Amino acid sequence: MYNEVNMTRRTLVGISLVAMLVMVLLLLVKEAAAPSAPKVTAPTKSAPRTTQPKATTFDKTQFSTTDPSSPWVVVNKQHPLSPIDYTPNDLMPVGNGQQMRAEAATALKTMFSDAQAGGYTLVADSGYRSYSTQVSTYNSEVKAYGQAKADSESARPGYSEHQTGWAVDIGADGCHVADCFGDLPAGQWVQANSYKYGFIWRYTSDNTDVTGYRAEAWHFRYIGAALAAEMHKEGITTLEQFFNISGGPNYN
Ligand SMILES: [Zn+2]
Repeated sequence: MYNEVNMTRRTLVGISLVAMLVMVLLLLVKEAAAPSAPKVTAPTKSAPRTTQPKATTFDKTQFSTTDPSSPWVVVNKQHPLSPIDYTPNDLMPVGNGQQMRAEAATALKTMFSDAQAGGYTLVADSGYRSYSTQVSTYNSEVKAYGQAKADSESARPGYSEHQTGWAVDIGADGCHVADCFGDLPAGQWVQANSYKYGFIWRYTSDNTDVTGYRAEAWHFRYIGAALAAEMHKEGITTLEQFFNISGGPNYN
Protein backbone atom coordinates (compact mmCIF):
# COMPACT_ATOMS: atom_id res chain seq x y z
CA MET A 1 0.00 0.00 0.00
CA TYR A 2 2.68 2.41 1.03
CA ASN A 3 4.69 1.40 -1.98
CA GLU A 4 1.68 1.94 -4.24
CA VAL A 5 1.19 5.45 -2.91
CA ASN A 6 4.85 6.08 -3.29
CA MET A 7 4.70 4.79 -6.80
CA THR A 8 1.73 7.01 -7.59
CA ARG A 9 3.58 10.01 -6.18
CA ARG A 10 6.59 9.17 -8.21
CA THR A 11 4.42 8.80 -11.29
CA LEU A 12 2.75 12.15 -10.60
CA VAL A 13 6.09 13.81 -10.06
CA GLY A 14 7.28 12.19 -13.25
CA ILE A 15 4.25 13.35 -15.19
CA SER A 16 4.51 16.92 -13.92
CA LEU A 17 8.19 16.96 -14.77
CA VAL A 18 7.40 15.82 -18.29
CA ALA A 19 4.63 18.40 -18.50
CA MET A 20 7.03 21.15 -17.41
CA LEU A 21 9.58 19.99 -19.92
CA VAL A 22 6.97 20.05 -22.67
CA MET A 23 5.94 23.57 -21.65
CA VAL A 24 9.55 24.75 -21.66
CA LEU A 25 10.04 23.16 -25.04
CA LEU A 26 6.88 24.80 -26.37
CA LEU A 27 8.07 28.16 -25.10
CA LEU A 28 11.42 27.63 -26.75
CA VAL A 29 9.81 26.61 -30.02
CA LYS A 30 7.53 29.64 -29.85
CA GLU A 31 10.52 31.88 -29.20
CA ALA A 32 12.41 30.38 -32.11
CA ALA A 33 9.44 30.57 -34.44
CA ALA A 34 8.57 34.12 -33.47
CA PRO A 35 10.05 36.47 -36.05
CA SER A 36 12.98 38.21 -34.41
CA ALA A 37 13.02 40.76 -37.17
CA PRO A 38 10.98 43.41 -35.36
CA LYS A 39 13.70 43.57 -32.71
CA VAL A 40 16.31 44.40 -35.34
CA THR A 41 14.25 46.61 -37.57
CA ALA A 42 12.69 48.55 -34.71
CA PRO A 43 13.78 52.12 -35.25
CA THR A 44 16.25 52.61 -32.47
CA LYS A 45 17.99 55.83 -33.17
CA SER A 46 20.49 55.55 -30.39
CA ALA A 47 22.06 52.19 -31.10
CA PRO A 48 22.83 51.18 -34.67
CA ARG A 49 23.02 47.42 -34.71
CA THR A 50 25.51 45.09 -36.28
CA THR A 51 23.66 44.47 -39.53
CA GLN A 52 23.79 47.76 -41.38
CA PRO A 53 23.91 47.34 -45.13
CA LYS A 54 25.99 50.03 -46.84
CA ALA A 55 26.17 52.01 -43.61
CA THR A 56 29.92 52.37 -43.84
CA THR A 57 31.17 54.69 -46.54
CA PHE A 58 34.78 54.43 -47.61
CA ASP A 59 36.93 56.91 -45.68
CA LYS A 60 38.70 58.90 -48.38
CA THR A 61 40.66 60.91 -45.85
CA GLN A 62 42.40 57.94 -44.31
CA PHE A 63 45.65 58.71 -46.09
CA SER A 64 47.07 61.82 -47.72
CA THR A 65 46.87 62.25 -51.49
CA THR A 66 49.65 64.87 -51.50
CA ASP A 67 52.30 63.42 -49.17
CA PRO A 68 54.72 61.43 -51.37
CA SER A 69 55.15 58.84 -48.61
CA SER A 70 51.42 58.07 -48.62
CA PRO A 71 50.19 55.01 -50.58
CA TRP A 72 47.39 57.20 -51.90
CA VAL A 73 49.57 60.03 -53.21
CA VAL A 74 48.43 61.30 -56.60
CA VAL A 75 51.32 62.02 -58.92
CA ASN A 76 50.58 63.27 -62.40
CA LYS A 77 51.45 66.13 -64.74
CA GLN A 78 49.44 68.52 -62.56
CA HIS A 79 50.79 67.19 -59.30
CA PRO A 80 54.55 66.68 -58.94
CA LEU A 81 56.12 65.11 -55.89
CA SER A 82 56.65 67.53 -53.05
CA PRO A 83 59.49 67.82 -52.29
CA ILE A 84 60.38 67.32 -55.94
CA ASP A 85 63.47 65.24 -55.11
CA TYR A 86 61.67 63.05 -52.52
CA THR A 87 63.35 59.75 -51.65
CA PRO A 88 61.48 56.93 -49.84
CA ASN A 89 63.17 55.53 -46.74
CA ASP A 90 62.09 51.88 -46.71
CA LEU A 91 62.99 50.54 -50.15
CA MET A 92 63.22 46.78 -50.47
CA PRO A 93 64.44 44.57 -53.30
CA VAL A 94 61.77 43.03 -55.56
CA GLY A 95 64.16 41.07 -57.79
CA ASN A 96 65.87 41.95 -61.04
CA GLY A 97 67.85 44.65 -59.21
CA GLN A 98 64.67 46.66 -58.63
CA GLN A 99 63.27 48.16 -55.43
CA MET A 100 59.91 49.26 -54.05
CA ARG A 101 58.59 50.58 -50.74
CA ALA A 102 58.43 47.73 -48.20
CA GLU A 103 54.62 47.41 -48.18
CA ALA A 104 54.43 47.39 -51.98
CA ALA A 105 57.37 44.99 -52.26
CA THR A 106 55.64 42.49 -49.98
CA ALA A 107 52.40 42.74 -51.97
CA LEU A 108 54.27 42.37 -55.27
CA LYS A 109 56.05 39.25 -54.06
CA THR A 110 52.72 37.69 -53.07
CA MET A 111 51.23 38.56 -56.44
CA PHE A 112 54.25 37.17 -58.29
CA SER A 113 54.16 33.88 -56.36
CA ASP A 114 50.41 33.49 -56.94
CA ALA A 115 50.99 34.19 -60.64
CA GLN A 116 53.75 31.61 -60.63
CA ALA A 117 51.37 29.05 -59.13
CA GLY A 118 49.09 29.75 -62.07
CA GLY A 119 51.93 29.23 -64.53
CA TYR A 120 52.89 32.88 -65.14
CA THR A 121 56.43 34.03 -64.50
CA LEU A 122 56.48 37.77 -63.84
CA VAL A 123 59.40 40.11 -63.42
CA ALA A 124 59.77 43.64 -62.07
CA ASP A 125 61.30 45.53 -64.99
CA SER A 126 61.40 48.86 -63.19
CA GLY A 127 60.47 49.83 -59.65
CA TYR A 128 61.72 52.82 -57.72
CA ARG A 129 63.51 55.40 -59.82
CA SER A 130 65.31 58.29 -58.18
CA TYR A 131 64.89 61.92 -59.15
CA SER A 132 68.34 61.95 -60.71
CA THR A 133 67.61 58.77 -62.69
CA GLN A 134 64.46 60.38 -64.04
CA VAL A 135 66.47 63.46 -65.02
CA SER A 136 68.73 61.38 -67.24
CA THR A 137 65.88 59.17 -68.57
CA TYR A 138 63.78 62.17 -69.54
CA ASN A 139 66.68 64.12 -70.99
CA SER A 140 67.76 61.23 -73.19
CA GLU A 141 64.17 60.81 -74.45
CA VAL A 142 63.97 64.51 -75.27
CA LYS A 143 67.29 64.26 -77.05
CA ALA A 144 66.18 61.23 -79.07
CA TYR A 145 62.53 62.03 -79.83
CA GLY A 146 61.92 65.68 -78.96
CA GLN A 147 60.09 67.09 -75.97
CA ALA A 148 56.52 66.42 -77.20
CA LYS A 149 57.14 62.70 -77.67
CA ALA A 150 59.20 62.50 -74.49
CA ASP A 151 56.35 64.08 -72.52
CA SER A 152 53.85 61.56 -73.87
CA GLU A 153 56.01 58.58 -72.94
CA SER A 154 58.13 59.56 -69.98
CA ALA A 155 57.46 61.69 -66.94
CA ARG A 156 59.46 64.80 -66.26
CA PRO A 157 61.73 64.52 -63.24
CA GLY A 158 59.67 64.92 -60.06
CA TYR A 159 56.47 63.90 -61.86
CA SER A 160 56.96 60.13 -62.02
CA GLU A 161 55.09 57.64 -59.84
CA HIS A 162 58.24 55.53 -59.95
CA GLN A 163 59.94 58.10 -57.70
CA THR A 164 57.45 57.33 -54.91
CA GLY A 165 58.54 53.70 -54.72
CA TRP A 166 54.88 52.66 -55.14
CA ALA A 167 54.99 51.97 -58.91
CA VAL A 168 56.32 49.04 -60.90
CA ASP A 169 56.65 48.08 -64.53
CA ILE A 170 55.94 44.37 -64.89
CA GLY A 171 57.18 42.14 -67.68
CA ALA A 172 56.86 38.51 -68.71
CA ASP A 173 57.74 36.07 -71.47
CA GLY A 174 60.20 38.25 -73.34
CA CYS A 175 57.90 41.28 -73.27
CA HIS A 176 59.26 44.14 -71.23
CA VAL A 177 57.86 47.68 -70.89
CA ALA A 178 55.94 47.16 -74.11
CA ASP A 179 52.38 46.92 -75.39
CA CYS A 180 52.75 43.18 -75.95
CA PHE A 181 52.35 42.70 -72.19
CA GLY A 182 48.63 43.30 -72.59
CA ASP A 183 48.42 40.54 -75.19
CA LEU A 184 50.10 37.95 -73.00
CA PRO A 185 47.99 35.69 -70.77
CA ALA A 186 50.42 36.65 -68.00
CA GLY A 187 49.82 40.35 -68.62
CA GLN A 188 46.08 39.93 -68.77
CA TRP A 189 46.21 37.99 -65.50
CA VAL A 190 48.00 40.90 -63.83
CA GLN A 191 45.63 43.48 -65.28
CA ALA A 192 42.64 41.49 -64.02
CA ASN A 193 43.95 40.42 -60.64
CA SER A 194 46.39 43.08 -59.42
CA TYR A 195 43.69 44.90 -57.43
CA LYS A 196 43.47 41.89 -55.13
CA TYR A 197 47.04 42.63 -54.08
CA GLY A 198 46.57 46.38 -53.70
CA PHE A 199 47.68 47.47 -57.16
CA ILE A 200 45.88 49.29 -59.94
CA TRP A 201 46.61 49.13 -63.65
CA ARG A 202 47.28 52.83 -63.82
CA TYR A 203 47.28 53.83 -67.51
CA THR A 204 44.69 52.22 -69.75
CA SER A 205 43.40 53.24 -73.18
CA ASP A 206 40.14 54.29 -71.51
CA ASN A 207 41.63 56.74 -69.03
CA THR A 208 44.28 58.49 -71.14
CA ASP A 209 42.46 61.84 -70.93
CA VAL A 210 42.41 61.65 -67.14
CA THR A 211 45.91 60.37 -66.50
CA GLY A 212 47.64 62.25 -69.29
CA TYR A 213 49.51 59.14 -70.37
CA ARG A 214 48.94 56.77 -73.23
CA ALA A 215 48.04 53.21 -72.28
CA GLU A 216 50.83 51.38 -70.51
CA ALA A 217 49.96 47.71 -70.25
CA TRP A 218 52.91 47.16 -67.93
CA HIS A 219 52.69 49.97 -65.36
CA PHE A 220 51.08 49.18 -62.00
CA ARG A 221 50.71 51.36 -58.95
CA TYR A 222 50.42 50.15 -55.37
CA ILE A 223 47.63 51.91 -53.43
CA GLY A 224 46.85 49.30 -50.75
CA ALA A 225 44.30 46.50 -50.83
CA ALA A 226 41.42 48.48 -49.26
CA LEU A 227 41.45 51.30 -51.80
CA ALA A 228 42.11 48.95 -54.71
CA ALA A 229 39.11 46.85 -53.67
CA GLU A 230 36.93 49.94 -53.29
CA MET A 231 37.90 51.32 -56.70
CA HIS A 232 37.31 47.92 -58.27
CA LYS A 233 33.89 47.75 -56.60
CA GLU A 234 32.97 51.22 -57.83
CA GLY A 235 34.40 50.60 -61.30
CA ILE A 236 36.76 53.59 -61.06
CA THR A 237 40.17 53.13 -62.69
CA THR A 238 41.99 56.33 -61.76
CA LEU A 239 43.03 57.95 -58.51
CA GLU A 240 42.19 61.30 -60.12
CA GLN A 241 38.52 60.35 -60.54
CA PHE A 242 38.24 58.60 -57.19
CA PHE A 243 39.62 61.56 -55.25
CA ASN A 244 38.41 64.23 -57.69
CA ILE A 245 41.92 65.52 -58.37
CA SER A 246 43.02 67.20 -61.58
CA GLY A 247 45.18 65.40 -64.12
CA GLY A 248 45.45 65.30 -67.88
CA PRO A 249 48.13 65.67 -70.53
CA ASN A 250 49.35 69.16 -69.73
CA TYR A 251 52.04 70.02 -67.21
CA ASN A 252 51.09 72.55 -64.57
ZN1 LIG B 1 56.11 52.68 -65.22
